Amino acid sequence: MVAAAHPAEGGYKGEKMGRYVEPVCRLCRRVSEKLMLKGERCLTPKCALERRKGSPRQRSVRQRKISDRGLQLLEKQKARYTYGVLERQFRRFFAEAERLPGITGENLIVLLERRLDNVIYRLGFVTSRSQARQLVRHGHFLVNGRKTNIPSFLVKPGDIIEWRQGSQQTEYYKELVQVIGDVTVPSWLSLDKEKLVGYVISFPTRDDIQVKFNEKAIVEYYSR
Ligand code: SF4
Repeated sequence: MVAAAHPAEGGYKGEKMGRYVEPVCRLCRRVSEKLMLKGERCLTPKCALERRKGSPRQRSVRQRKISDRGLQLLEKQKARYTYGVLERQFRRFFAEAERLPGITGENLIVLLERRLDNVIYRLGFVTSRSQARQLVRHGHFLVNGRKTNIPSFLVKPGDIIEWRQGSQQTEYYKELVQVIGDVTVPSWLSLDKEKLVGYVISFPTRDDIQVKFNEKAIVEYYSR
């Protein structure tokens, strides 16, 4: 896909100014799982977890016994890291998921999936959610004709997502137009590949969303 500087590269330790600023591979190492946070690099032997496979340290992590509570925490952390959401905001999402009718765990995933940064990622405009967050924060997108630079903005059916006029002059955009043909978008979205305009057709359903965490464990974690 499009070659672009990864915003999370070379960050500082931990979280700062309401977002993660540490190298994202460290998050995968914490949960001992490939969370695919770095776009194309995750599919290459350069992946930090691939390089560690079979190392004594990695084996000792696998052999560690984890309590039920620890496993629930792990699932919650995987979800947070996957969508790039800090704890406080994640709790807000969870509270909203509980408030909505239906199954709380499924509601949570659907809410996370509706985030604007995730939608930019699902539309294939970028190769990772952290790159999407960076582009959204820099004001490259319009939602229904209005500049929207809030990554946590929740899209809804009928919304139209476009690149701003000025952003369409960038090399990144011009390169993206050339390679977007290979992208497949989920059924709840639609993409005009010539104009690079995304349409939200419906709310996502649980079946539309492939994730590497167990939402039931997250519900159990917060229910204690
Ligand atoms: Fe880093 Fe991606 Fe590998 Fe995770 S999956 S360790 S983000 S390269």
